[in-house]
Amino acid sequence: MKIPFNKPHLTGKETEYITQAVAIGKISGNGNFTHKCQQFFEQRYGFKKCLLTTSCTDALEMAAILCDIQPGDEVIVPSYTFVSSALAFVRAGAKIVFAESMGKNPNIDANKLESLITPKTKVIVPVHYAGVACDMFAIMTIANKHNILVVEDAAQAIDSFYKGKPLGTIGHLSAFSFHETKNIISGEGGMLAINDERFIRRAEIIWEKGTNRAEFFRGEVNKYGWVDTGSSFLPSEVIAAFLWAQLENIDEIQNKRKQLWNLYFEQLQPLAAKGYFRVPNIPEYATNNAHMFYLVCNSLKERTALIQELKNNDILAVFHYLSLHSSPFYKDKHDGRNLPNCDMYADCLVRLPMYYDLTEEDVELICSKIKEHLN
Ligand SMILES: *Cc1c(COP(=O)(O)O)cnc(C)c1O
Repeated sequence: MKIPFNKPHLTGKETEYITQAVAIGKISGNGNFTHKCQQFFEQRYGFKKCLLTTSCTDALEMAAILCDIQPGDEVIVPSYTFVSSALAFVRAGAKIVFAESMGKNPNIDANKLESLITPKTKVIVPVHYAGVACDMFAIMTIANKHNILVVEDAAQAIDSFYKGKPLGTIGHLSAFSFHETKNIISGEGGMLAINDERFIRRAEIIWEKGTNRAEFFRGEVNKYGWVDTGSSFLPSEVIAAFLWAQLENIDEIQNKRKQLWNLYFEQLQPLAAKGYFRVPNIPEYATNNAHMFYLVCNSLKERTALIQELKNNDILAVFHYLSLHSSPFYKDKHDGRNLPNCDMYADCLVRLPMYYDLTEEDVELICSKIKEHLN
């Protein structure tokens, strides 16, 4: 493929920092580079506490434990999302109540949320699709009214904002991803961010195999042992060293991605105005972190033809997210409600190549192929 869908960007310092981590002689987790990364996020965005994890999925699993999910508890999750948003809670025994997306963008429709709430509802999981904020005021208002916890799936939402507030700082807990397809990467990797201080102590314990090791190393207790449930959720210093090299360059990475995104928008907006497809909708309360550039075609048939035409030109565009409510694993457990917007995005949304090393010429080429195809 001449233009792949994604290409992991290296800043150049990754292997240097990994070498440093190895030379220091401490390559297990919770060391120097881990602290640097966690502090970076806490200081730059104002999270109360950040813990690096081996993936966003793991951060969501930690969140499910912290929310004390018990068998039979209900968790509201959009159906048009990645598996992990639901899976982490299913593993803890929750029943997933799938929510509908908005028509104007794939985020959860907050206006239809309240009707899904029952006395068993414990958590709402807003997913900031493409790094664009959900309507967090509406969601937090409903959650607070019913005493429900909010776990933001901010996997795609690094360095993005809702009315000036960083995404991931609004819910009680939030989960980020540094998978190689995201803006800031460490191969596999993630982070749990904690905004509600009640959860901090227990989160550290769950993070380190159910032990109070973190407190011990801070000198707060004089011995450590097994005090709770947990797992080995923390990444090694090798991963954190890689991540640090990325974080040092976050502004440059974000600026470049936004330039490319804006160029896509400029080039394709006129075609959207003619009704060939829709371009991303960014509500006035949200910023764009240029995680993804997508189009919403008018039908599955038109999307298939567009992807094929790009492929014929050596350009890889992809679709994703078959709605989770109709997935082989969950369809029998779903309550049967139709979610037409989720199905519409599953059929009609296409993601165009988007990565730091993409050039403006590449974007112009992709857009010209799309124009030719439609004319
Ligand atoms: C990428 C992604 C995840 C999973 O992230 P991992 O780090 O691969 O576990 C979860 N939710 C959403 C919305 C994602 O885009």
